[in-house]
Amino acid sequence: MAILALDIGATKFAAGVVGPGPEVLEVRRVDVPDAGVWEACRELLLAVAGAEPVGAVGIGAAGPVDVRAGVTGPLNIPEWKAGFPVVAAVRELFPAATIRFAIDGACLALAEHRLGALRGVPDALAMTVSSGIGGGIVAGGKVLLGRTGNAGHVGHIVVPGWDTPCGCGGRGCVEAIASGMSSVRWAREQGWSGGTGARLAADAHAGDEIAVAALHRAGTALGTAIASAAALLDVDRVVIGGGFAQSGAPLWDPLRAAVDAHAGLNFLHGLRVEPSAITEGATLVGAGVLATDEPV
Ligand SMILES: [Zn+2]
Repeated sequence: MAILALDIGATKFAAGVVGPGPEVLEVRRVDVPDAGVWEACRELLLAVAGAEPVGAVGIGAAGPVDVRAGVTGPLNIPEWKAGFPVVAAVRELFPAATIRFAIDGACLALAEHRLGALRGVPDALAMTVSSGIGGGIVAGGKVLLGRTGNAGHVGHIVVPGWDTPCGCGGRGCVEAIASGMSSVRWAREQGWSGGTGARLAADAHAGDEIAVAALHRAGTALGTAIASAAALLDVDRVVIGGGFAQSGAPLWDPLRAAVDAHAGLNFLHGLRVEPSAITEGATLVGAGVLATDEPV
């Protein structure tokens, strides 16, 4: 029986076959189309499954989700924004399979806790900083889900001093300031002419003043938000994955300085904030763990 992992991202779907170890093999990816979103996802799953019967499917999805209802409503997928019953749809495709479903941030935390930088760490925060900012929480050795499965939405921690409008409808959320997309937008407003987070990081390393300022701004907001989250959750380890987190010292130096400036409580002394060891497809890896492991 095949065990499948599915990552429902805001811009890409990825699926693969889990195992025999925790790795996900035969991974295929497809861009999320403007219309016919489920049909694209369905085709991807069927292609990955091949002829073998499917015994289990682990699904990690961009939020917000409602794990009780098996529904996901990613803000960046208009066709699904009002909520798509992904668990029911996958169950219809593979009626004999066990289906497990969690938000991408919980999958990230699961992947880090079982296989990555958080192995053996009972209380920790796993974050992803890429086009958006997400995260998951490990509390007492378990991934914390929350009432509807959305615990760990660290991207919407409000950072003092900013009132930038956020896609969630609020203002001053760390995602609106410090994500790759938000940083690129800010840098362009200052006259920088590039278009991607990777280019912004490369330009910062080369000494471009606007790029350096953009990463300093992002790192400061991230570090401030991380210190708040660490105080709330009483964690001693934070790992950060995602493409924009690979920006190196121009992001990480101000990030660590902001953590040091704000994490002043005794129990936060020694708080470690580190890059993730899982650089590729953490949600998919976590979805694979979800499919093979005890329910989180
Ligand atoms: Zn927000």
